[in-house]
Amino acid sequence: MFRKILIANRGEIAVRVLRACHEMGIEAVAVYSEADRGSLHVQLADEAYPIGAAESRESYLSIEKIIGVARRAGCGALHPGYGFLAENPDLARACAEAGIVFIGPTPEAMERLGSKTAARHVAREAGVPTVPGTLDPIADEAAARNAAQEIGFPLLLKAVAGGGGKGMRVVERKAELEGAWRNAGSEALNAFGDGRLYMEKYLTSPRHIEIQVFGDNRGNVVYLGERECSLQRRHQKVIEEAPSPVVDAELRRAMGEASVRLARAAGYRNAGTAEFLVDEDGKFYFLEVNTRLQVEHPVTEAVTSLDLVKLQIRIAAGEELPFRQEDVTLRGHAMECRIYAEDPENQFFPSPGEILSLRLPEGPGIRNDVGVVSGWTVPGDYDPMLGKLIAWGADRAEAVARLARALDEYWVVGIKTNLGLFRRVLRDSEFLAGAIHTRWLDQWLASHESLVAGPPESEEQIVAALAVALWEAKSANGAAAAPATPRVDSRWKVESRVDQLDNKPRR
Ligand code: ADP
Repeated sequence: MFRKILIANRGEIAVRVLRACHEMGIEAVAVYSEADRGSLHVQLADEAYPIGAAESRESYLSIEKIIGVARRAGCGALHPGYGFLAENPDLARACAEAGIVFIGPTPEAMERLGSKTAARHVAREAGVPTVPGTLDPIADEAAARNAAQEIGFPLLLKAVAGGGGKGMRVVERKAELEGAWRNAGSEALNAFGDGRLYMEKYLTSPRHIEIQVFGDNRGNVVYLGERECSLQRRHQKVIEEAPSPVVDAELRRAMGEASVRLARAAGYRNAGTAEFLVDEDGKFYFLEVNTRLQVEHPVTEAVTSLDLVKLQIRIAAGEELPFRQEDVTLRGHAMECRIYAEDPENQFFPSPGEILSLRLPEGPGIRNDVGVVSGWTVPGDYDPMLGKLIAWGADRAEAVARLARALDEYWVVGIKTNLGLFRRVLRDSEFLAGAIHTRWLDQWLASHESLVAGPPESEEQIVAALAVALWEAKSANGAAAAPATPRVDSRWKVESRVDQLDNKPRR
């Protein structure tokens, strides 16, 4: 087993990986940018090394700097987390060249599945149904017009190199195609340095259901059930749960076996996720593979009683999968909320700044994966996710009740968060019935605008928390400190959050 692992990430996922290392008796080495000097992952690491300026390109996206630290610190392996370099085959290659084990798939498997069109080919060869559309990148606008005629409207233009909804445009009718083609192409070029696009039929109200797969180095591949990720805002996940309220044993097996075929066809090992859209008739269509640990992995951990990060580390160290497909059983129900520093009253723009007071909920069935602490200033340079709140219950109703109870106990003062949104969604009768699809939340938001903006905590609570925070600051410094003004010039906001999937104004 490895003695030391470098964690090439930040925030809650760096903390999550670090905890798995410590439980396994492995030393965890952190890297951090200038904005993260005082962050939780640095505090908890056994060693921590600065790798440059706040801007990701200068720090968390620098393969050279990260490999340099891994070498200097004598790390036997590197865990990439999710985001940043996690799906970059160049990092996996650089690790191999430096004699460091990359905790993830081979660079070749990443390449086979990394581009969405390449993955569609692999799926087709493995006999896995894909969303109808073009299998290859589209050469030019004229070719796009021809393809559109064949596929029909509404359709979706997608970036070959896509991720995070960038370079994606819904096209409702022919007249919109030209503009959408231009916008999606330039957005993709900006985001990925690759402006190539392809086209899919736009399914109007599907569910997003994904399968967790795991492979070892000896040809064993298993699936660990599904996650329902249909609760999305502008096509980005917000609440996830396992199992899905609509997946029965037969569909689970069909989707699971399809995912295993796909993983085998790509020569896949370690953790991966096959994403699907599922229509009202229970027909499923392959979307893409994420060749890394997912943000929402805790809901699978909760219902399988497995620790996916430890499993990743064991498999990377050459161990065999310690169980077979028939040993995988699901128990109870789990649900996760992604808690963001963002302002529901201002189109969910990021709301970085100082956390004056933080109270995390506890109690039966509750897990917090957070990357922040009270007094920490959430930087404006990165994804503003503060952490994830996960609830487990014996059944869906208990999981929801625990999550709702924990949300009521949750308290973040000093910055805006989306907690109030979750408190309201979890009381909605359609949500409670599991009657959701990928556009459900956008429609809900459009019809509940005034409700979402309502007070997330009572004013009394906020005033009390402010008083406590000011008093603490005063006793620490001998003078009262004014609450920091949240930064509103977040680069992350400008580059990512404003990029909306469909550029129509919200009603
Ligand atoms: P990205 O990798 O950019 O996040 P995905 O392909 O994973 O893009 O899709 C993200 C979300 O976009 C899906 O969960 C779904 O809500 C929506 N989506 C993607 N493709 C389609 C499609 N063909 N029809 C309808 N919705 C889609």
